[in-house]
Amino acid sequence: MKTLKKLLLLTAAVLCCSGLFAQSNKKIALVIHGGAGVILKKNMTPEKDKAYREKLQEALDAGYAILENGGTSEEAVIASIMVMENSPLFNAGKGAVLTNAGHCELDASIMDGKTLEAGAVAGVTNIKNPVLAAKAVKDNSVHVMLSGKGAEAFAKDEGLELVDPSYFITDRRKQQLEKAKTMDESRGHLGNPEGNNNFKFGTVGAVALDQQGNIVAATSTGGMTNKRFGRIGDSPIIGAGTYANNQTCGISSTGHGEYFIRLAIAHNISAQMEYKGVSLQDASQDVIMKQLTDLGGTGGVIGLDKEGNIMMTFNTPGMFRGFKKVNGETGVFIYNDEE
Ligand code: ASP
Repeated sequence: MKTLKKLLLLTAAVLCCSGLFAQSNKKIALVIHGGAGVILKKNMTPEKDKAYREKLQEALDAGYAILENGGTSEEAVIASIMVMENSPLFNAGKGAVLTNAGHCELDASIMDGKTLEAGAVAGVTNIKNPVLAAKAVKDNSVHVMLSGKGAEAFAKDEGLELVDPSYFITDRRKQQLEKAKTMDESRGHLGNPEGNNNFKFGTVGAVALDQQGNIVAATSTGGMTNKRFGRIGDSPIIGAGTYANNQTCGISSTGHGEYFIRLAIAHNISAQMEYKGVSLQDASQDVIMKQLTDLGGTGGVIGLDKEGNIMMTFNTPGMFRGFKKVNGETGVFIYNDEE
């Protein structure tokens, strides 16, 4: 009897330890971006460089702490994105770029790789954190995408924090708009061939893999400077700006949205993995460095797969980005010659 008791205790201890071991071995990972574009070291002051890196690190830490503590990938990407939406440094939430009329029209989306459920808002002007509205659309509506006044009414019903539209506007973006208005329309954006740092973008995105093996991706943006006529980019479009599928990968895009929509960039990468059996890295190389580049588009993507492999691929001089993996690998980067 005594031996049996001992054996039972030993078995329980082994099971318990292996449980803990399994937990600490989970492949949690988080990757974020704060926009791709003509971001050149020579145009960046040391103070600005530092400010961006610190904010990226803060966003990364906020999301990763959630994953480490057993939280969901959805909670993690939302925490990371909210840090960046609340910072005037990025083109999302406060500090978003201005439309031709001088105000902010914000887009955001989120997708759950386990259920393939998704939510998005487009062209909203008074929702403090558009990523929360995207999540609310996913969870509490029968739709995937809501726009403009309707999306704002929905957010109000959901009890989300609303702000006066002036909350989002910063002097820096006002100056950028004035400059953009003096340029030919096709150049007043990310693809600006003159490499004017003023037009670097700052759309934000995050993709996470949690301890349950679930992938969630989300993206939030103000779109493109000087946009008109209710222009909507790729960021709120599932399959272009955001995509997640536990079987393949999660992706968040940043770049010249019109090209990202036409190439269905985020789904394109997932589909190549699914149908061709290629790696996340190879799929993104093909989609960004070949398909997007050949079409004349600029920008980048971040992503991760179910094994926690991280990908950050872009064809611009820079992309604000960072990642953290369970094996301790981590970093934040700005220019294309880092990593
Ligand atoms: N993709 C965004 C858009 O076209 C802009 C960006 O990523 O900077 O609206």
